[in-house]
Amino acid sequence: MSQQQFENFTASSLYCEKCKTAMPVRERLLLVLPGKDLYDYICTGCASSVGQREVTAGEKMMAQRMAPRHPRRRAPAQRIRL
Ligand SMILES: [Zn+2]
Repeated sequence: MSQQQFENFTASSLYCEKCKTAMPVRERLLLVLPGKDLYDYICTGCASSVGQREVTAGEKMMAQRMAPRHPRRRAPAQRIRL
């Protein structure tokens, strides 16, 4: 039952009215609000906005754990000084 939600969240293609078909989309961070972020979905075919989505802090954490799109490693802060 939660699979649908999951698929919706990880949707990498959305229907584009210009392209008249489901197109792969790019996620763009639009706005950062306290507790949630607003994302814009851009069609990779015609670069028009095909949708937006709010991602709460909890969802974001879950998404990052499931699909780390930006595997950002921490800078090696723990250097051993002699
Ligand atoms: Zn398009």
